[in-house]
This record gives sequence, C-alpha cells and structure tokens, in this order.
Amino acid sequence: MGDSELERTEYVPVVVFRYQHCTSAGHIFSLSIPAKCASCGQSHQPHEFILPPVCVFPPWTTSSRAPGSIVIKPTVGGFLTDYHGLEDLHIGVADSNGYVTHYLQELQQIQVDSAWKDCIAIPIDEQLSNLPLCPGKRDQEWCRWDNTLAVFTVSFRQRQRETRSLDPNCFDFVWGFVSAFWLSVVSDGKDVKERCLSKECFTEHFVLPAINKALQFKRMYKAATASTQKK
Ligand SMILES: [Zn+2]
Repeated sequence: MGDSELERTEYVPVVVFRYQHCTSAGHIFSLSIPAKCASCGQSHQPHEFILPPVCVFPPWTTSSRAPGSIVIKPTVGGFLTDYHGLEDLHIGVADSNGYVTHYLQELQQIQVDSAWKDCIAIPIDEQLSNLPLCPGKRDQEWCRWDNTLAVFTVSFRQRQRETRSLDPNCFDFVWGFVSAFWLSVVSDGKDVKERCLSKECFTEHFVLPAINKALQFKRMYKAATASTQKK
C-alpha cells in the first residue's frame, strides 16, 4: 500500500475565483474574493459585477473521492506544480473504495495504492457515475467493477508471465481493463453509450479531455496568481 489513511482524507484543493467586472476586461481570475477589480482597480460593490466571483475547483482530486473510475496523474509530482503538457503521466483504476490498481512498467508488476492524490477521474460507466459516493456500500454495479478488476488483474499477470517480450505499460493495463468492463456490461444486455473499440479512440475521447481540463485550470491559476501579485 502507498499513502496512509490520513492522506486519504486530508485533501485541501487550491481554488481559483473567476469574475467579470468591467465591460472591456473579460474574465478575471484571482486566488481569493477580490476587494478591488484587478483590471480597473476600482473597489466594487456586489451589484457592480457583470459576473460575480465564482469559485472554480481544480479538475483533480484524491482517488478516495473518485471510486469506480480510471484515474490519471503525473508520473512525478502533481498537476499544478509539475505538469506542463509534455511530462509523463501514469494511469490506473480506482476500485469502489478509491484504492488504485496500476501497472508499474519499470518493475513489471501490478501494484495497489491506498490513495492517489492530485489525480483526475475519468468515468467510463454512466451508472457508477450517478451512484451516490458511499464507499463500502454494495451495489451490483460496484460489484461488477471490483470483480472485473480482480479477474482482469489475475489474467493480465498471467499473460504477462507468458509473454514477457510484449513489455506492457500502465496504459495497456488500463485499456485492457476498460475493454473487459465494457464487454461485461454489453454481454449483460446493457447499452454502453460511446463505447470505444480501440486504444486510440479511448485516448481521444476519454484521456485527452481530462488532460485538457488540467491544462485549462493551470492557465486560470497562472492568471489568478499574476493578478493577485499585481495588487
Ligand atoms: Zn473593473
């Protein structure tokens, strides 16, 4: 197991405030609710905003808040400080308790961590996304997710032993799991909307949008930091 139980629960995200005050300025970002407009420098009353300050949360969270999803994070460090668009990312599967199963290519082994901090959740199952977040509560869909992960992990390990020369990576593991999960839903006679049949499709429609969300928030954070320093 990786991080401690304490780290699973204590998670304080950085937030950005977005508002619009003057007609010409567009959106303004700041790290706290501003006393003065960062664009025109006027102190403002609530009724003077074109758009009042709204709090924007980062798209990343801790895996304990993202059970039953695919999770992605920078291989080294966190999105806010260490990821700029080109660094390596690591991807895994969060079970119904938010524990993350992932494949470590350098060790050629599957590992389970009790929590990933600063990871972006990629939901692939509509039903699970709509279930209330209450880890430990057994529901058929949670069971399907955990069972598929357990069975797939064993078969992946078996295949890896038999075909060492293939040298899979963390994404091969996740894509294999996603295919197996979607197959189990379909063979149960249920409809899977927007199901991808290739790794490339999954990357384009599920992984890249998550990465773009991280980069978009970082741009907002950078603008907020700049306008806060200007004061
Ligand atoms: Zn203004």
